[in-house]
Amino acid sequence: MRVKFWGVRGSIPTPITPDAIRSKITTVVQRIRASDLVSPSAREFFLSQLPPWLFDYAGGNTACVEVSLNPDSAIILDAGSGLREFGLTVSSRIPVPKNIHLFFSHFHWDHLQGLPFFSPIVRPDIRVSFYSPEADMRRHLGEQMRFPFFPVTLENMDGGRSSFVTLENMPLKIDGSEISWRKMNHPGGCYSYKISDGKHTVIYATDSELTESDFDKNAENIAYFHNADLIILDSQYTLGEAVEKFNWGHSSFSLAVDFASEWNIKNLCLFHHEPLYNDKKLHNNLQSAQWYYSHLGKSGMNIFLAEEGKEVEF
Ligand SMILES: [Zn+2]
Ligand SMILES: [Zn+2]
Repeated sequence: MRVKFWGVRGSIPTPITPDAIRSKITTVVQRIRASDLVSPSAREFFLSQLPPWLFDYAGGNTACVEVSLNPDSAIILDAGSGLREFGLTVSSRIPVPKNIHLFFSHFHWDHLQGLPFFSPIVRPDIRVSFYSPEADMRRHLGEQMRFPFFPVTLENMDGGRSSFVTLENMPLKIDGSEISWRKMNHPGGCYSYKISDGKHTVIYATDSELTESDFDKNAENIAYFHNADLIILDSQYTLGEAVEKFNWGHSSFSLAVDFASEWNIKNLCLFHHEPLYNDKKLHNNLQSAQWYYSHLGKSGMNIFLAEEGKEVEF
């Protein structure tokens, strides 16, 4: 099972700005001493000592995550602007995935705005299937592409070839995997998805303001969350912001740590990054999350930032 991040930002696409690039370069220049340039090895050593946020770019595209179980098909979680980036790679893949299964967590704009620019949908040799527990999915998706919002309707774009599946009976079976879902706390509702291939389990839980009931050790929660290999979890806020923005539908990174460690999850991916946060702030949040976890007296859980282009393999 391979997981790839195509869009990791929450709320609105957030391209890197010239000021942010300048700030990174300035920070490097300010740290250089003459002795750092005397040889290639001194230069390499200098670069290796710089903080990771100077090299990293978490990315500015909104939510889109790919889960691959076999090369013939792809499971896509959400159609934020990162979906366009995924779509651009499809034609050059060997083999070209013939089935693309696209699951929607909910229909806030940052989770469907990539769909009008999803080029594989026009190919007659690729079958795109859309999934959601919401019966109105087709109408919601078509709405954003109607006149005067977009020049091509969804029906004209896909030629009527796409399937729209309302999720009812769990689990759904695709490519030998089982997919189940669970409603999360978010304005208007949002669904988490769990994908299990029999050996490993990945949970995608974006746009979730965690509550007491998510921590409840009832049979349903145990079956869904306990011992997962990876959870991609909404961690948009700091704890202070989560208190200030109570009921806005997002969680803090510290609550995400509490949650993932409580459920004995092996890898916690901080996801749905706040659009106001630059790479330095995101890395500070990551360090704070790791520090907080170590002070819970637990160990063994890996915590990392969702970053565009990053791949995780099980
Ligand atoms: Zn969102
Ligand atoms: Zn939302």
